[in-house]
Amino acid sequence: MEINKNRAPSELVFIPTPGMGHLMSAVKLAKLILKRNKTISILFIVINVPLNLSMVKSYIHSQSHHNPYPTRLTFHILPPLSNPPDPTTPNYLKNFIELHNPLVKHSVIDRTMAGLSSPIGFILDMLCTSMIDIATDLNIPSYIFFPSGTGFLNLMLHFQNMADLENIDIATKFSDPDIVFNMPGLENQITGKAVPRIFLEVEGGCSMILEHARRFRKCKGILINSYVELERVGFKALFDQVEMGQIPTVFPVGPILDLDEKIRSESNEEDEVQSIVDWLDNQPSSSVVFLCFGSMGSFDEEQVKEIAKGLDDSGHRFLWSLRKPPSSEGKYGAPSLHETFVEALPQGFIDGTADRGKIIGWAPQALILAHSAIGGFVSHCGWNSTLESLWFGVPMATWPVYAEQQLNAFQLVKELGISVEIRMDYRYVWNTKKGNFVVKAKEIKNGIKKVMNLDEEMKSKAREMKNKGREALEIGGSSYDWLGRFIEDVLSKDPERC
Ligand code: UDP
Repeated sequence: MEINKNRAPSELVFIPTPGMGHLMSAVKLAKLILKRNKTISILFIVINVPLNLSMVKSYIHSQSHHNPYPTRLTFHILPPLSNPPDPTTPNYLKNFIELHNPLVKHSVIDRTMAGLSSPIGFILDMLCTSMIDIATDLNIPSYIFFPSGTGFLNLMLHFQNMADLENIDIATKFSDPDIVFNMPGLENQITGKAVPRIFLEVEGGCSMILEHARRFRKCKGILINSYVELERVGFKALFDQVEMGQIPTVFPVGPILDLDEKIRSESNEEDEVQSIVDWLDNQPSSSVVFLCFGSMGSFDEEQVKEIAKGLDDSGHRFLWSLRKPPSSEGKYGAPSLHETFVEALPQGFIDGTADRGKIIGWAPQALILAHSAIGGFVSHCGWNSTLESLWFGVPMATWPVYAEQQLNAFQLVKELGISVEIRMDYRYVWNTKKGNFVVKAKEIKNGIKKVMNLDEEMKSKAREMKNKGREALEIGGSSYDWLGRFIEDVLSKDPERC
């Protein structure tokens, strides 16, 4: 169906995956586009996920409440599916997203018919590529917003090529943790241990992620939340593929960070946030190690004990975001808050470390990383956390947990040489709600000591990346220019607005 695009405001339709990491960067990207071009409006269509909806809903509520573009930025949360798929089935995520396609299509058509908007393009999250078909039906282009770095994108494209051109069974071949291989975009060889788990899931996961890679090649462009100065080798590999016509234009537009904690953490109690700030204000500069493992990070009792011992033995001041594993039966589930930390921690730990440690639930992470008392960050290496840490110049100790984080950790430690390793090969196994092994207190202590006493070479590299990230977004900076090129590209289909 072709729709009339002539009267109503030109509208970009964003469809993020409603995980906090994907959503927050997409909203921030939308705001940057609205700031740069006054003729564009943006509609967010948010998939209704039962899993972590309260957090997503409160984020969207907060965004709508503090909306700097009330007439040009609209949020629309889709109704829940009347017949959702079984979360324990292998293709759950794929099926769950695809079942929203008719709802997405109707939302766009309804707005157009009502004269509220004239869609000029879809910006789809990397997991929503099935919606390219809707855009094609409506005769508008689709772009992918890739909320991670070049490492994961290059690996997706590489594995998809191996599967399609060489008929290699990726899940079987790379399930060997000791396999050593080269891939485009990395200078060092990597091992099976750095391969994100999704590629190893014979049932569902691997075929789903390779299908997304196949579909990336069919869209009009890929916006990536990174900057060329950070990942030179990774971007070279991508630009080469663009030049050879193997993938569409890649737009490095990052680092895109939503750092306004007042807006993004509306769900955090104000006095809780204040108590964290007050505590940090009372600590010496660069003296506190911060531990946080992302929106989905949690550990079982045995692992929590090892962390507590590692912190105790390190002697460092610490701020620890600790939440408990999901209780849901399903494959995935968001962690929940402890009612009291006493029950979760070894006896005597809280009192014994009261003069130098603080334990919290959901962390106002951006605000914490910005604080001068923070000297190091033990992180799960989620891409947003990585960019936030770089932005504030806080050195990281890597402890990947899920998603593509093992690969991010590899890049940070081996490729960029700006982080120290606690582990690069830890994985949380959703079915058992445990890690593939227990990280021992000694490793944690050593990692903390290293990150809090970083050598000068690493410090200066990290400082350089921090400065380059900030420069990339300034007028004339690389990402600023790429965002301009993207806006030109998307408007070029809409002659009235050029
Ligand atoms: N975050 C936070 N407090 C927490 C956990 C996470 O503010 O306790 C934020 C963090 O600052 C980042 C996002 O949630 O912006 C997590 O994104 P990331 O890509 O790092 O990891 P994900 O949660 O997607 O695995």
